[in-house]
Amino acid sequence: MQEATIAAIATAPGAGGIAVVRLSGAESYQVAARVFCPANAAKKVEQAKGYTALFGHFVDREEAFDEGVALFFRAPHSYTGEDVVELSCHGGNAVARRLVEACLAAGAQPAAPGEYTRRAFLNGKLGLTQAEAVMDLISADGRQGAALANAALGGALAKKINAQKAQLTALQAHLAAWVDFPEEDVPEVSQAELIATLSEQKDMLYQLIAGYGAGAVLRRGVDCVLLGRPNVGKSTLLNLLAGFDRAIVTPVAGTTRDIVEQAVQLGSVRLNLFDTAGVREVGADGDAIEAEGIRRSWKKLDEAGLVLAVFDAAQPLSDDDLQLARRCQGRPAIAVLNKQDLAGEQDVPHGTLEPYFKKIVPMCAKDAVGLQALTDAVADLLGTAQLDPGAAQLCSARQLSAATRARDALAEAIRARQDGFGLDAAAVCLTDALQALCDLTGESATEATIDEVFETFCVGK
Ligand code: GDP
Repeated sequence: MQEATIAAIATAPGAGGIAVVRLSGAESYQVAARVFCPANAAKKVEQAKGYTALFGHFVDREEAFDEGVALFFRAPHSYTGEDVVELSCHGGNAVARRLVEACLAAGAQPAAPGEYTRRAFLNGKLGLTQAEAVMDLISADGRQGAALANAALGGALAKKINAQKAQLTALQAHLAAWVDFPEEDVPEVSQAELIATLSEQKDMLYQLIAGYGAGAVLRRGVDCVLLGRPNVGKSTLLNLLAGFDRAIVTPVAGTTRDIVEQAVQLGSVRLNLFDTAGVREVGADGDAIEAEGIRRSWKKLDEAGLVLAVFDAAQPLSDDDLQLARRCQGRPAIAVLNKQDLAGEQDVPHGTLEPYFKKIVPMCAKDAVGLQALTDAVADLLGTAQLDPGAAQLCSARQLSAATRARDALAEAIRARQDGFGLDAAAVCLTDALQALCDLTGESATEATIDEVFETFCVGK
């Protein structure tokens, strides 16, 4: 069945220098000819060669409403693999929307979310892992997150998994020959060789899986909660991280009562920051609103991917400080010892806090001292410092689940052999592992999987 010709705005909404409306499908040139008149009357849209451009007017029911450029791509040499025309009009919502409406009136259908990339995948222009990377790349804020997505778009993950599949398929063929044709003279796979190959492939998957969390942090950022009793300098730290006065800083305890949300870039990591009500015991007759704020702060501590617990280095640790420290134990938590400028040697509560925190960073938030140390501590704790953004990485929950299934099936194959089961048992596990790897790269992707991948896309991509 021939796919309909689709149209959508490919650029982000809002005012801008230009906006691009993209047509894809067999009728793209006919639709373009109805909405675009080349300035040079001798030029015909339908005859435009691929990789050429024409200047002209956009028309809607005979009325010219803008001027711009049409860029032509001939199948299969386009993003989707179909005939594609990209119409660049002046930026801004009204003009671009009118151009899309004109395209629809001229016979195009509105594109569904991710439909261009879906067509590119179905036409073999991109693998499924690369298609997933497209969305990551366009939504990346940080440079390293973008580098990560770019490596995936270049096929780094697909290459690595395909190499694994080749190794395991060769092993599977050998096992199958040995199991199915015992009368033939197929040499037996040695136990040591079999276990070595399976272990090597399992370890590679293990490494990919281990890097998933840090990759996700680079792509999407991490929810980070700032905690500490009132007046230790949480809002000052938040403002330092945000680079402007976002939270109200006052010397009166209990000023910040709500959770304030703020996204800040700390080195290569985006922190989705939640400044919270200062945590302290308010007692039964205390302020009910403050008590609710404190309850929410503790809840955030349990949910956050990163905890910055702030302490006043110039004061001895209070019971509230110790309660916070205890709650941070076992969590991805960093202790910020703030107000170093006021702290004497004997005041620093370093040793007492050590058992509860992964890292301790002395700071003077008021004077922006210690920010680099905090940046390094966060990158180290979240594993982003160790991550090579050019290397293959898993970049979606779907990929993680397939890689985990493959790793577990390989572990099962190894166990089966070590426990003395026959080669046929190992062969069954190996088939499961290969199936999971095919799911990962999308070779055997079902319609439901493809839908799942593209449902997160935006219209026009
Ligand atoms: P919060 O209640 O934890 O949000 O604390 P604030 O950020 O409102 O800070 C409380 C007070 O401590 C303010 O007067 C800040 O100027 C001051 N403060 C914050 N950080 C520092 C620091 O590093 N050194 C000094 N001397 N004062 C600080």
